[in-house]
Amino acid sequence: MSKGNLSKIDNLGRVVIPKSIRKALDIEHNDEISMHVEGETLIISKGYRVCAFCGTKEIRHQIGTKFLCDKCLTNIKDF
Ligand SMILES: [Zn+2]
Repeated sequence: MSKGNLSKIDNLGRVVIPKSIRKALDIEHNDEISMHVEGETLIISKGYRVCAFCGTKEIRHQIGTKFLCDKCLTNIKDF
């Protein structure tokens, strides 16, 4: 994880994602992002939801802030 990208939140709650990070993640103007909190960390991801285990975009289930596909949910149930 890179350091040195310190930003301030403006009076409307907005924050600028530095160009270097947008480029690294291939995020462009008007792309959707998702945000969630883990402990005291804000995690910003590309707008699509992916399975927490295998990374597929075919999400069918959500447990808390985690998303799961059918296959991984079945594997967990059988564990
Ligand atoms: Zn999965």
